[in-house]
Amino acid sequence: MEVYMSKLNPCEAVQEQLSAYLDDELTQQEQQRIYLHVQQCPECSTLLQELESMRTDVKDAVLSSIDTRDLPTILHDQPARWLGWIGWSLFALGVLLVGAFFAWELASELLIGTATPWWFRLGIAGLYLGLAALFLSVLRQRIVARKTDKYKKVNL
Ligand SMILES: [Zn+2]
Repeated sequence: MEVYMSKLNPCEAVQEQLSAYLDDELTQQEQQRIYLHVQQCPECSTLLQELESMRTDVKDAVLSSIDTRDLPTILHDQPARWLGWIGWSLFALGVLLVGAFFAWELASELLIGTATPWWFRLGIAGLYLGLAALFLSVLRQRIVARKTDKYKKVNL
């Protein structure tokens, strides 16, 4: 096995490591070995150049797709704001529906449930009411924040 490995085409070994070579992920010794091989091997040299230009293309594509000059436009993108609103509305609706379900469960439990002691039922009621109050306070803060945002904009 050892003998077979060492008799492998040296180009194959180099080509396998070209990607790591470009990323500077190899040891100094390996980097040096590949550098020297590429210098005197046209095939590996071409491959390295292809790999390099391919990477530059990908980098350029990524950079140009997120141009920093576009950033303010992206941040003030109207659809993104609508999505934010829809997200919040859906979230609020979900919490309300789930809350209603638990309230219903709680009500029926309080009315017909006899297995649980009264203080436990009281505790659950407090838990749900507390959660509901917390949610409403957060929601109110959001709405107030929105209104002040608009007010500030009008003032400008
Ligand atoms: Zn080679």
